[in-house]
Amino acid sequence: MALMRRQSLVKFDAPLCETIVETPKPQGRQVLMRIERCGLCHSDLHIQDGYADLGGGKRLDTTRGTTLPFTLGHEIAGVVEEVGADVAQQLIGTRRAVFPWIGCGQCQNCLEGDENLCAKQRFLGVAIDGGFASHVLVPDAKYLLEYDPLPVNQAATLMCSGVTAYGALKRLVERPRQRNLLLIGLGGVGQMGLAFAQAMFKQNISVADLSQAARDSALNNGAAIAYDPAEPDITRRIIKETEGGFDAIVDFAGNDKSMAFAISVLARGGKIVVSGLMGGNFSLPMVQWVYKRMTVEGFMTGTLAEAHELMALARSGKVKPTPMQEEPMSDVQTWIDALRAGKVIGRIVLKN
Ligand SMILES: [Zn+2]
Ligand SMILES: [Zn+2]
Repeated sequence: MALMRRQSLVKFDAPLCETIVETPKPQGRQVLMRIERCGLCHSDLHIQDGYADLGGGKRLDTTRGTTLPFTLGHEIAGVVEEVGADVAQQLIGTRRAVFPWIGCGQCQNCLEGDENLCAKQRFLGVAIDGGFASHVLVPDAKYLLEYDPLPVNQAATLMCSGVTAYGALKRLVERPRQRNLLLIGLGGVGQMGLAFAQAMFKQNISVADLSQAARDSALNNGAAIAYDPAEPDITRRIIKETEGGFDAIVDFAGNDKSMAFAISVLARGGKIVVSGLMGGNFSLPMVQWVYKRMTVEGFMTGTLAEAHELMALARSGKVKPTPMQEEPMSDVQTWIDALRAGKVIGRIVLKN
């Protein structure tokens, strides 16, 4: 009997602990992957908490439907170890990244390719067991992506921070005015956004982050200007320097402060894509919304088609690798704690 190791959630709002179970046998279109790497994402922290912060002391319960023990982790790359009867045997032994935003496959959203919008989703590491483990069972071989010649760490992180950053930016490409672009919040997704933005946009890219270290890292990785949102009178300075504000903004932080900052430096007719989940609550006078003719769109994850698009872009060599730090899978809880404490720059990738 083959066994697999997992770093499991055994209780919400408590540290992960190792569990050992029988390795599942793939059926039909399923694939069993031996995991090489799994990136650590902010949303793993929210799932571990069991709630999302709605602001004003209110919480959204996110524990429903989860059977414990449960394995987090959705930025997975590995080697195909075993396949179901309906999958080509030649796939065995190949190295692949795993698209985790898997839907039910039957609803209208899924049939139209928008599996990330599925209400009965089977997201890996969110709804079904994910990548903080030695193995993962993938529901269908079609969710595996070739990534050669990219490094394995980059391939893994493209599946969440990559597809989220790419998808958020894609929603700003077809805009009437493209004078400038601002990225707010330079955690793992924001850094990935900076890398993709340089491949997708012609204009200079500005960034904003409260952390000096994050700003320095962004300037070293292609940002033209880095702003500190806490600087006195920063809004006035930005409006002056940009001659009216930013036409396009991605808020990769997604809290009340980052959103207030985004609105304050948005040009008339501009658009903000909110892609962060730090939480909180935001309100705005209606007249300001109308006067500014602003557009605000929420976005997370992405479709399988978008994952293929961004993988093609990255494999073409146009996307610079982002800062990453490789750590042992068994230390995942240590790095969850570090991420929670804001002590991580770029992406932590856990290695088996
Ligand atoms: Zn994620
Ligand atoms: Zn569905």
